[in-house]
Amino acid sequence: MENKERQPKRQPRQGFNWFSLVYIFLLLGLAYMWTSTGTSSPLKKEWSDVKDGLLLSGDVDKLVYVRNEHKGEIYLRQTSLDKYKNLYGGREPKSGPHFYFLVSDKFDAEHEFDSVVSSLPEESRFKVVIDEHKSYWGPIIEWIIFPLMLLLMFFFFMRPMRSMGGGGAGGGIFNVGKSQARLYEKGGNLKVTFKDVAGMEEAKLEVREIVDFLKNPKKYTALGGKIPKGALLVGPPGTGKTLLAKAVAGEADVPFFSMSGSDFVEMFVGVGASRVRDLFRQAKEKAPCIVFIDEIDAVGRARSKNAGFTSNDERENTLNQLLTEMDGFGSNSGVIILAATNRADILDKALMRAGRFDRQIHVDLPELRERLEIFKVHLRGIKLAPGFQIDFLAKQTPGFSGADIANVCNEAALIAARKNKDFVEKQDFLDAIDRIVGGLERKSKIITPEEKRTIAHHEAGHATVSWLLPNANPLLKVTIIPRGQSLGAAWYLPEERQLTTTEQMMDEMAATIGGRVAEELVNGRISTGALSDLEKLTKQAYAMVTYFGMSDKVGNLSYYDSTGSREMAFSKPYSEKTAELIDDEVKRLIQQAHATATRVLTENREGFEKLAALLLEREVVFSEDLEAIFGPRRGGVDPNKLLREDTEETPEAKE
Ligand code: ADP
Ligand code: MG
Ligand code: ZN
Repeated sequence: MENKERQPKRQPRQGFNWFSLVYIFLLLGLAYMWTSTGTSSPLKKEWSDVKDGLLLSGDVDKLVYVRNEHKGEIYLRQTSLDKYKNLYGGREPKSGPHFYFLVSDKFDAEHEFDSVVSSLPEESRFKVVIDEHKSYWGPIIEWIIFPLMLLLMFFFFMRPMRSMGGGGAGGGIFNVGKSQARLYEKGGNLKVTFKDVAGMEEAKLEVREIVDFLKNPKKYTALGGKIPKGALLVGPPGTGKTLLAKAVAGEADVPFFSMSGSDFVEMFVGVGASRVRDLFRQAKEKAPCIVFIDEIDAVGRARSKNAGFTSNDERENTLNQLLTEMDGFGSNSGVIILAATNRADILDKALMRAGRFDRQIHVDLPELRERLEIFKVHLRGIKLAPGFQIDFLAKQTPGFSGADIANVCNEAALIAARKNKDFVEKQDFLDAIDRIVGGLERKSKIITPEEKRTIAHHEAGHATVSWLLPNANPLLKVTIIPRGQSLGAAWYLPEERQLTTTEQMMDEMAATIGGRVAEELVNGRISTGALSDLEKLTKQAYAMVTYFGMSDKVGNLSYYDSTGSREMAFSKPYSEKTAELIDDEVKRLIQQAHATATRVLTENREGFEKLAALLLEREVVFSEDLEAIFGPRRGGVDPNKLLREDTEETPEAKE
């Protein structure tokens, strides 16, 4: 699908071709070298030989002494050339100089030559010319040709990097600072539309709204609202973030600049920042428009605190420029920045604050129903056996991303073709899934059916306990789709409260340990899946005993230190005896939470199992489903509250 998209417009190359200039100078340099070597190369002689031999022979016509080079050049008489033929390889030497000699700078030319000439008979005397050699070429070589050669080399090194970077703007070193963004104009035949993006309903809704902001800004600004400046698509690799952005480009009737975060990064200082400036300049000219920066973590990684020794100053400059530019244009100027990353955790906090990427759009791994949709999209072009049932495909592929599913469809078609079939059959898909699971397993991402069952019970345990205990936070949604490094997740509505009572804390602790208890009840054994639960539980219990004075035995004492100065002290502010007491109390509280969770789950075993089965089947369960199973909740629920998210982390993810 990738390469079918339209070649984006290129920037026209600027007028003069600098490259030809380089060639001209190279030719001039060659010409110099050619002329300066003379017509025939003179032979070297020592001054003593010249003085006592050649000059006395009577064959010399002229002696030119170049004072500043301490060099003498000897021209022979036309008539005597014959004698010297064998020195020049048998041929008669061309016009001189025929010999040269070098002398030291203490050489007294006038005196030496006079004495030789005067000692000669009249007919063998020669002309003496004393000269200074002025070179015009030397400085030119030094100041022009040499730097040009350097530039040329620089250019040749640049070129391959440019093509690897996949940039769009015209080549040439003089465009290094130009942004590399590709521009998709209105009415282009970019093929991707929202129809090609299956599932992801919420994300689609959000980006649709962004497109709408640009189309009818009046509708929103009339009421005094401000149009967001940017939205960040966050989610694991292969979940369709880039695809969604392409669909926006295909659907929006506005120009769409697309580039990758790594396009900003070049080995030259200042280039990234200059590209950012250029991108925003272009975008402002084309407003309303959308700028898409894929894999923004390449530039947006958090800046290091101990600057100076890190080599990444260039990246930080680029990021600073990006931040400045995002601040620099008004919120209603009609430029919206869309960015995608799968590492939102490493992004600089400054990027995420309101006024820059105001919105985060989460794109998670698809759940059962969404996977079915994605299969439908990718099966469009595949010849299926008649009567093919596609429902099983989604069931067989838990934890697969959209990209994995596209891969399954393609592999299945290839497997069928290898077997010379006319249609792709169920078995081909099963083989393809096996093959891809094999690949995923190596990346330790895939969940076995056994594990999936355990995770479903674990999450159902949390959900059941929190639903049935009146003081726990009400639950909104549970999934067993792996998200990032967690295996499942439950979303709760934390009640807005400034004070938390002992009962509330105890009920929450029971809900937290509910996952572990569920595993005990169902499997009779426990797993490492409760690591982060237990961590949270332990911290909460210690806080209850040592900070909030919620334990009768320890009493109304708080070892909380708001000044923070205790960090330095090595001793605890309480005795060993109290330390033991605290440990005992913490254990007691956790045991109490464990007992509560066990009681709730055994008393409601039927509903709990029903919930787990529903989770296994649908992979995501909402509060409505819980209400259907257990009846309405007894605690007070106010749904207009902020979401909180609790995730289970695998032990490996903890490193
Ligand atoms: P990301 O940018 O999130 O890493 P991509 O957008 O590059 O992932 O997705 C890779 C490929 O996976 C897409 O080209 C598409 O074929 C497929 N794909 C992913 N998500 C979906 C989806 N929701 N619907 C259809 N295809 C999808
Ligand atoms: Mg991508
Ligand atoms: Zn848990």
